[in-house]
Amino acid sequence: MEIYLVGGAVRDGRLGIPVKDHDWVVVGATPETMKKKGYRQVGADFPVFLHPKTGEEYALARTERKQGRGYHGFTVYSAPDVTLEEDLNRRDLTINAMAEREDGTLVDPFNGLTDLEQKTLRHVSDAFAEDPLRILRTARFAARFHPLGFTICPQTMTLMRDMIGDGELEHLVPERVWQEIQRALHEKSPGVFFQVLQELGALAILAPELADTECFEAGLQALQCISVQNSSSAQRFAALLSAVPEHKASALAKAMKSPNECRDLTRLTCLFAERFSIDTGTPLPAKAVLELFDQADLWRRPERFEQLLETLICTPHKTHAEPLRLAARSATGVSPQELLNQGFKGKELGTAIRNERLMRITQVLTP
Ligand code: ATP
Ligand code: MG
Repeated sequence: MEIYLVGGAVRDGRLGIPVKDHDWVVVGATPETMKKKGYRQVGADFPVFLHPKTGEEYALARTERKQGRGYHGFTVYSAPDVTLEEDLNRRDLTINAMAEREDGTLVDPFNGLTDLEQKTLRHVSDAFAEDPLRILRTARFAARFHPLGFTICPQTMTLMRDMIGDGELEHLVPERVWQEIQRALHEKSPGVFFQVLQELGALAILAPELADTECFEAGLQALQCISVQNSSSAQRFAALLSAVPEHKASALAKAMKSPNECRDLTRLTCLFAERFSIDTGTPLPAKAVLELFDQADLWRRPERFEQLLETLICTPHKTHAEPLRLAARSATGVSPQELLNQGFKGKELGTAIRNERLMRITQVLTP
């Protein structure tokens, strides 16, 4: 049997950037020989094994045929007669379809190295069209390598447009889409991911609420601003949706099956942005601020509130952030214990807390 290094490790090695993990392909072996050598099989249907010592992934060379539509309709064929080239042919992009022999020499039947040098993202073969997830992966690699000058070649753009025209995106389950979006949010130029999808007409299908030009442009700017900081996925997602009306943004975050913290921060960011755009420029009335604090549950979730402010600073409403931060700091200082000691009880205690908070907010906000 022969073992080759494949995928991201070969690509990143040639790019001279740090290699995250090593994926290996094994040609000419059966599951039995692998197990005899001490490899542990992972997953029943897929011929993938873990190295007994390093724990790295070793996959038997395989081909994939499309059966039905969407992500699930694949038959995997793996046998000792599947060649390396056949295995590389089922991969998404040429720069991801290079292999290295154990002596470090390159096996590159699809000219990935030329594309790497020319900074081109190009599909390997027509088989690309069999998996719509590759559209999202390609957009994600465009986002990752944008700072290095990579772009998607016109033929691949055309192929992806054809796939979208054929309704392929509708077959992706929300979990897979979210996984790619979540990864994309942490790539070097996350905005490029969404720009590519917008250009392809994919955003109108995957996130129609966001595809509206004005919301989209404002969202991209906010995302760009937040992503140069050490920010969370929730903050990045919320920034991207910050110009979408709250009810639409919340519906989208839910439909995408994004995690609760993403949904919550998106809802709050849009809610605050909406409230701010009612009376722009002027400081908000203290009562409105207290209402926002209640809606954000500032009292129990101060760290989330801080995340929210960091996100709002990246929107056109940034002038509100600092006064809000000061008001929040003062209002959270109200001590229920002290009021209790003063003799307030039950419903009256609630009112006293509220009044004290309101007073402190007013003090901070009054110039
Ligand atoms: P990363 O640095 O993000 O790990 P990678 O290129 O190694 O990038 P992986 O998701 O780890 O990406 O996949 C390893 C390899 O498997 C890819 O380089 C590519 O050749 C192939 N691959 C993964 N997913 C697909 C897919 N959906 N369609 C075709 N090929 C794929
Ligand atoms: Mg990888």
